[in-house]
Amino acid sequence: MKQAEKDAIPNRAGDLQRLILQAQQHGVRDQAVLTAIGQVPRNLFVPKDLAKASFEDTPLPIGEGQTISQPAMVALMAEASCLSSDDNVLEIGAGSGYGAAILRTLAARVTTVERIETLASQARTTLKQCGFDDVDVAVGDGTLGWPENAPYDAIIVTAAGPSAPLPLIRQLKTDGHLVMPVGRKHYQQYLMRFTRQSSNDKTPRVHAEKLMAVRFVPLIGEHGF
Ligand code: SAM
Repeated sequence: MKQAEKDAIPNRAGDLQRLILQAQQHGVRDQAVLTAIGQVPRNLFVPKDLAKASFEDTPLPIGEGQTISQPAMVALMAEASCLSSDDNVLEIGAGSGYGAAILRTLAARVTTVERIETLASQARTTLKQCGFDDVDVAVGDGTLGWPENAPYDAIIVTAAGPSAPLPLIRQLKTDGHLVMPVGRKHYQQYLMRFTRQSSNDKTPRVHAEKLMAVRFVPLIGEHGF
């Protein structure tokens, strides 16, 4: 077999192992999260011509001016959410569906909201192809959350907003985490973890932690940009 033909054969186990190592190099230690990164075939969530690049630790374009997040960042956000296997999780920004697949590997129920209909439809198809039939992919303004399936143990937002949207805090269970990038459009953003501390629905008390500097596409919507 010629070298070019050999190169064309995806070495999935090796490639996925590389993603695990890259996540570990970014400080991810949660074994369940690392196992999930090693199980979800990221190559199937990107356009075909980017399949080879999908095992690099980098964001990639998925159309409509949007990106699939860097895998190590997906892992860091999942780890920061402190998920348990029976959790009910909401993701805002379905994009390719990759993050939702990782979350569904870690939790019992996943709803993901995407504002761009074509991306939501493609994400739904890919998730089904990969066996994640029970992930709810909804279309709408995720800054309003998804009250139908609330309350959530954790909410992960994959686009950067100016602040934590109140509807998301209200849809969290007490002690639940909202993990999201907060800052300015395109720069000076920090990954934040907000933990709901009270059951008062009108003005829930929240503990905020700054985790790291990040860069994400903008969260567009009523409680976004
Ligand atoms: N989780 C995605 C993945 O695994 O491919 C990455 C998503 S990308 C970094 C951020 C996504 O957030 C984009 O697809 C964008 O359209 C979406 N988005 C931005 N504002 C939104 C909003 N208010 N509601 C829902 N989705 C939103």
